[in-house]
Amino acid sequence: MSINQTTIEDIKTRIDIEEVISDFVSLKRKGQNLWACCPFHDEKTPSFSVSPAKGIYKCFGCGKAGDAIEFIKEVEGLNYIQAMGYLGKKYGIQIDEEEDTPEEIERQSLRESLFIVLGFAKDYFHNLLLNHTEGQSIGLSYFKERGYNQQVIKDFELGYSLDQWSGLLQEALKKGYTQQTLVAAGLAIEKEERAYDRFRGRVIFPIHNITGKVIAFGARTLKSDQGAKYINSPETEVYQKSKVLYGLTQGRNAIRQNDTCYLVEGYTDVISMHLSGVPNVVSSSGTSLTEDQIKLIKRYSNNITVLFDGDSAGIKAALRGIDMILTSGANVRVVEFPEGEDPDSYAQKLGSDEFKKFLQANHKDFITYKTQLFLKESAEDPIARAATIKEVVLSISKIPDALQRAVYIKQCSGQLEVDEYLLINELNKIQLQSSGGFAGAPPPPVTDFIPVEKPRSGLPDGVAMQERECIRLLLNYGDHKMEDGSSLHQYFFNELEEVEFKTAAYQQILELIKVELNNHGILDTARLMEQVSGAVKTEVIDLLTERYEVSSLWMDRFQIYVPKEQEMLPSVAYSSLLRLKYQVVKKLITENREELRLAELKEQQKLLQVDVALKKSRNKIANILGIIVSD
Ligand code: ATP
Ligand code: MN
Repeated sequence: MSINQTTIEDIKTRIDIEEVISDFVSLKRKGQNLWACCPFHDEKTPSFSVSPAKGIYKCFGCGKAGDAIEFIKEVEGLNYIQAMGYLGKKYGIQIDEEEDTPEEIERQSLRESLFIVLGFAKDYFHNLLLNHTEGQSIGLSYFKERGYNQQVIKDFELGYSLDQWSGLLQEALKKGYTQQTLVAAGLAIEKEERAYDRFRGRVIFPIHNITGKVIAFGARTLKSDQGAKYINSPETEVYQKSKVLYGLTQGRNAIRQNDTCYLVEGYTDVISMHLSGVPNVVSSSGTSLTEDQIKLIKRYSNNITVLFDGDSAGIKAALRGIDMILTSGANVRVVEFPEGEDPDSYAQKLGSDEFKKFLQANHKDFITYKTQLFLKESAEDPIARAATIKEVVLSISKIPDALQRAVYIKQCSGQLEVDEYLLINELNKIQLQSSGGFAGAPPPPVTDFIPVEKPRSGLPDGVAMQERECIRLLLNYGDHKMEDGSSLHQYFFNELEEVEFKTAAYQQILELIKVELNNHGILDTARLMEQVSGAVKTEVIDLLTERYEVSSLWMDRFQIYVPKEQEMLPSVAYSSLLRLKYQVVKKLITENREELRLAELKEQQKLLQVDVALKKSRNKIANILGIIVSD
């Protein structure tokens, strides 16, 4: 189907993003924007915002953003045309289908005919399984042996193909289907004009699309000597392997209700789990999960639990694929099965209740699991250990939510027994690398670039400390002559210009010093003391008496050469001012990054430039001071 341009314009002008999104979440106004808990990821406090004025939404949690059409595409899992169809219906706009090109019509009718013949084949196989003597004695008895009941045989529309070269083909031709269609559907194979059935003497697992139509088949042999255990339909006009999940049709409601989707390897795992009362399960059919498949799952739940067979060789290979699930923003958990067991065998072995208990008791958060797994192997080997850290941080870097990343960093630092700051540095490196410096859109998640400083408990923040140090120097050495003959006061006030101190008490003292100097030309500290009271007075006293007893803490922090402070005054004053500037710039960077974190996409570029500029001047100062900056 396609929609003509005028209709699209019509719909676009009618769209009210607030109305559209309100159908899915309840929006609350706060300021200019509307807020809700994000429909695309799991959260308890709203970070999903809608700007009616701009016609856009953005989630600050998972980063999803777009306009009303994008929203409908995302939330309903539709393509553009389908989303317009949805919106057209909502606003009562008649959608006139454009005249399709002859090619398009032909393609459409090919798809239609494939669906029809695939449906026919499914019924044919199912019927053979239930009613034909060969189907019953071979196919049905096999399924019974595996413990399959009538319910799953019906739900999964299981079937059987006769052990003949053209059982299906002949039946289908008789019904008027063409050989060409059967080949195009992947049901028959053509060789030098002659055609024969693809599936022969096998039990049949139909593969359904999201609307429940059969689009392909998997088929298991029942003989031990007959080539491949499983054969599958080839890709066709209606079957793209990477976009289909086995079991989704049967499991989608359960996935939604349980808000969890189990991911397993194959057909038998899916069906056995249904038999065990765990119907919220899908399989990507042998291949590792694709982005399209993850999107499909996320329409129903944001929680994905991967079930691993208990053979460790396969596990590491599978881990890579899981990073992609993390990228999608889903919460990923894993359950590892005992050696030699897969979900199918283990579900059969434990029985329903025990199996459910097993899943409950053994699911682990993926990052935790991966960390443990690598730790086990690298326990005594420092080189392997370094690789472990990289591996784990690489996975963490895939998580789109900054807060979640931070939580994992903290947790893994405990598990790995390495400093949190080391992990953050590693994370920063990866993110800078993968974003290729800041080049190219979209900009990298900026929250991880927040400068990392070891918290020093019990100390005031850097700006306040440096302001204090400036006041101390002014109070104690204000009249001291600098090398060029000017006083320290003049030097400071020149340098500080209109700078206001952030700490109220220090700003107050600074003002008083200025006034004193203006009125009397010299700084009389006694007179100054009369003008202050309470805590400020105590502070002034402290500062005046601290001259010769600067604590070792201060020495540590600022490396001020205490005994000869007076002789060193020019350089002390210089570096003190520099340090103040350094702290102020650092604070500006942090504030700017906070703004960046909350900024609309449009504003991000500008703020990123500010960040770069601030960092440049910070680095310049740091360079002079000999401070090593970590980001
Ligand atoms: P068995 O009864 O020997 O355990 P099975 O039918 O359970 O056999 P497994 O070898 O255990 O099959 O494989 C588990 C799942 O992996 C199967 O359900 C199937 O979906 C999938 N699978 C295995 N081999 C293939 C294959 N060649 N092509 C596609 N899927 C396969
Ligand atoms: Mn098996």
